[in-house]
Amino acid sequence: MPEVERRTIYEKSCCGRRAYSLPATDVPEVPLDELVPAGLRRAAPPRLPEVSELDLLRHFTHLSTLNFGVESGSYPLGSCTMKYNPKVNEVACRLEGFAGLHPYQPQALVQGALELMYELERWLAEIAGLARVTLQPAAGAHGELTGLLIMRASHQAQGRDPRRIIIPDTAHGTNPASVVMAGYEPVAVISDARGGVDLEALKPLLDDDLAGLMLTNPNTLGVFDENITEIARLVHEAGGLLYYDGANSNAVLGISRPGDMGFDVVHFNTHKTFSTPHGGGGPGAGPIAVRDTLAPFLPVPLVGKTEDGRFFFDDDRPQSIGKVRTFYGNFAVLVRAAAYIRGLGPDGLRRVSEMAVLNANYVMEGIKDLYEVPFERRCMHELVASAAPLKEHGVRALDVAKRLLDYGVHPPTTYFPLLVDEALMIEPTETESREDLDRLIEALRAVAAEAASDPQLLREAPLTMPVRRLDEAEAARHPVLRQRFPEDGESCA
Ligand SMILES: *Cc1c(COP(=O)(O)O)cnc(C)c1O
Repeated sequence: MPEVERRTIYEKSCCGRRAYSLPATDVPEVPLDELVPAGLRRAAPPRLPEVSELDLLRHFTHLSTLNFGVESGSYPLGSCTMKYNPKVNEVACRLEGFAGLHPYQPQALVQGALELMYELERWLAEIAGLARVTLQPAAGAHGELTGLLIMRASHQAQGRDPRRIIIPDTAHGTNPASVVMAGYEPVAVISDARGGVDLEALKPLLDDDLAGLMLTNPNTLGVFDENITEIARLVHEAGGLLYYDGANSNAVLGISRPGDMGFDVVHFNTHKTFSTPHGGGGPGAGPIAVRDTLAPFLPVPLVGKTEDGRFFFDDDRPQSIGKVRTFYGNFAVLVRAAAYIRGLGPDGLRRVSEMAVLNANYVMEGIKDLYEVPFERRCMHELVASAAPLKEHGVRALDVAKRLLDYGVHPPTTYFPLLVDEALMIEPTETESREDLDRLIEALRAVAAEAASDPQLLREAPLTMPVRRLDEAEAARHPVLRQRFPEDGESCA
């Protein structure tokens, strides 16, 4: 049997083949010397593959299938909310009136864009249960930094400058990093047996030097901290402010609001909760919402509205911490978020959260006899299981994650949160159907069975992917980022 075609586009190159056909030029040719001075030109023409249009298309179509995306299969990557991003959002942000904007255009000519920002700000404020919003931060971590700088400006406006921010031991890594970047000192508080903040451990940390507490709720164990109003009361009493990491708000939309829980600042990751493709690392948006007392410190400009209904950039905010990003944030991402929120409406958003929680609990029930679930209670939009029971076969969470790829499932987040041994953090998202969830459960169960019957197979997985296990350190130090002509390849020059 002939082998499957595996030649690269360089190996397929054949002198004289072209992927285009253009009519002969009817304008006079300009001598090359007049265009580019000889000293700046390369000595020999570049060696580029010469292929037909069909070869070129096959090349790029093939490349597009090498990566695993949310449109390839289940992508239960906990704490990342890899939900399906409706294509209508892409249509919306590509509308010429949005995509063709220039940031220096006069405000009178961009009223539609300003209106969208004005409305989105209000929707996010309503979802947060807080007063005002800035859309400027470019990502979740950037929102954290902005929120912390606002907390600091607020303390300083009252003539105080406390230095410490309390963070639970389950926190996302960006939280302590942002605290340090904002010039604060992070202080860890341990979790209790139910996975929430340990109140007795918290109390001694509440002193004069307390600037605030940063919390995710539901936290990265996927559980809701029922003591949140008590925590808020204690922190406020000690003069601190409460920061809510709302990167993954998939569990609470339309059900509970951070502002009502007592939080003063919230950031959202629109690219997680409100849908934007983000597997490749960006771009995203990390708007933050704040309580009315903190609103004067928000970055400039905010979008205002005059009495006669005109929208404008409001720069007249003397207590603002200043700008945190050029111009007005990642506008196209904001358009996607607005389209998503508008498309679903309040009832639809609530249903997103109900389905996200239901799906996570369904998966938990389906696997908890084979994988340990250390904090076994109703989970929220994600669950944290543990591959520790497989250790007796010499199989680890990493092996489970790699083997899942062979079943057409993207690995869940592994080894996070840190306080769970061999953690598998699974977030199915609301967009997976019951059949998809069953397949996910079946895959996880099949891998657990293989751990006992054929552990070596798991240690070698994945077996069916374009690449096997990478040496991650080597890949980072000596990345091979391009294909080349084979040494003995034909030269067309
Ligand atoms: C993703 C995430 C962040 C960071 O968001 P980025 O947009 O990647 O900067 C912060 N906190 C939590 C809980 C997250 O899941």
